[in-house]
Amino acid sequence: MTGTRTAPRRKVLISGASIAGPTLAFWLNRYGYAVTVVEKAGTLRSGGYPIDVRGTALEVVQRMGILSKLQDAHIDLRRLTFLDEDGSEVVSLNPHAVTGGVEGRDLEVRRGDLTDALYSAVRDDVEFLFNDSIDTLDQSGNGVDVTFRGGGRRTFDMVFGADGVHSRTRELLFGPEEQFHRYLGYCFAVFTVPNTFRLSRETVMWNSPGRAAALYAAGNNDEVHAFLNFAQPEPPFDAFSDPDAQRNLVATVFADAGWEVPGMLAAMRTAGDVFFDGVSQIHLPRWSSGRVALVGDAAYAPSFLTGQGTSLALVGAYMLAGHLADRDHVEGFAAYEQNLREFVTMNQGLAGKGGATLFPTTAEELEQRNNRLRTLSAMPPTNGQPAHSALTLPEFTAST
Ligand SMILES: Cc1cc2nc3c(=O)[nH]c(=O)nc-3n(C[C@H](O)[C@H](O)[C@H](O)COP(=O)(O)OP(=O)(O)OC[C@H]3O[C@@H](n4cnc5c(N)ncnc54)[C@H](O)[C@@H]3O)c2cc1C
Repeated sequence: MTGTRTAPRRKVLISGASIAGPTLAFWLNRYGYAVTVVEKAGTLRSGGYPIDVRGTALEVVQRMGILSKLQDAHIDLRRLTFLDEDGSEVVSLNPHAVTGGVEGRDLEVRRGDLTDALYSAVRDDVEFLFNDSIDTLDQSGNGVDVTFRGGGRRTFDMVFGADGVHSRTRELLFGPEEQFHRYLGYCFAVFTVPNTFRLSRETVMWNSPGRAAALYAAGNNDEVHAFLNFAQPEPPFDAFSDPDAQRNLVATVFADAGWEVPGMLAAMRTAGDVFFDGVSQIHLPRWSSGRVALVGDAAYAPSFLTGQGTSLALVGAYMLAGHLADRDHVEGFAAYEQNLREFVTMNQGLAGKGGATLFPTTAEELEQRNNRLRTLSAMPPTNGQPAHSALTLPEFTAST
């Protein structure tokens, strides 16, 4: 009797089907794992402000075969205009001058276009469980025993938390979020409003000390993304789980604001896609414990001030899966952390540089920012922030 005995595929569970989750699923499936993804929402969540894919992350999407699809979806924002409190123009410039992105290379796409592309790349090869989530994790046996909120119970070789900045997996593993949450002093709300402003592929941002209101026309001429960001010294914990409290807080903070803000506040009351959160980062001493590891915002959210949340999620998922291609979880998780930490630290560090100074809290700082922006308009195009490309992606091969 002959025949090769194939080892049973190792079974893994990923919590979260946004950016990090499907990317990790794609690569683990490629390396021979049997992958299940559990997502608490009923379907893929497509909303949100457009997101950037830059530097090293471009190489990840290229290796996944979805770069050209994303290039087709690229928004190609042409102008970023800053307004004073009275609505007069401060300066209008090329958006890359502010973001540090590279024209013609870096991508900005609707969040939904990216999640769709990632999901399409894995949906036929991976099991998706929507409308469910992990309830408990037990690592006392030879694997991870998982119970699901929906009542199921299964055992996996490894479990991954790709469930965002407020990760439940992280809480199960390491305890409450407060220990790892670094609040950066702002809150924001984004939602879509009808494009009654005749804007096209441009962003207009109004500022007063401690407050910013922006309209972002991403190309679809019927709708624009409204963005309201404000300084809030302490995180408004009561509002995080209460959509009415979020809307009331935003309305109070912007009550006396001019320009288009009154219309934006009125639209926010009925918008169905308001995304509200504090601006914060996640810093963890370790990204794994036993057979469970974290990836993307759950492990190292950098905040939108860096514009690097999505790129870190893509690169982090690629690196985590790659280090498990031919290793067990002990070696693989250690190598993932060792080879990604520096890249994460550099990118989280961007929040302290350009990002926070975009939203000054005093009149004097706002004037200084405006002067800086005026000089930026005369600068040549950038080659990108070194942090965006600070990692050269290794090639990984599955063990046979
Ligand atoms: C609907 C939505 C809109 C967003 N809009 C913006 C935006 O406008 N601006 C911005 O800067 N960032 C936004 N983000 C965050 C941005 O997508 C992330 O910063 C970044 O892309 C990192 O991705 P991630 O996959 O690590 O985490 P996320 O994109 O946050 O994805 C986490 C996923 O896990 C799911 N999830 C959460 N808890 C559980 C659970 N207990 N069980 C199972 N699944 C769970 C969530 O539904 C989500 O699909 C948004 C995220 C979402 C989900």
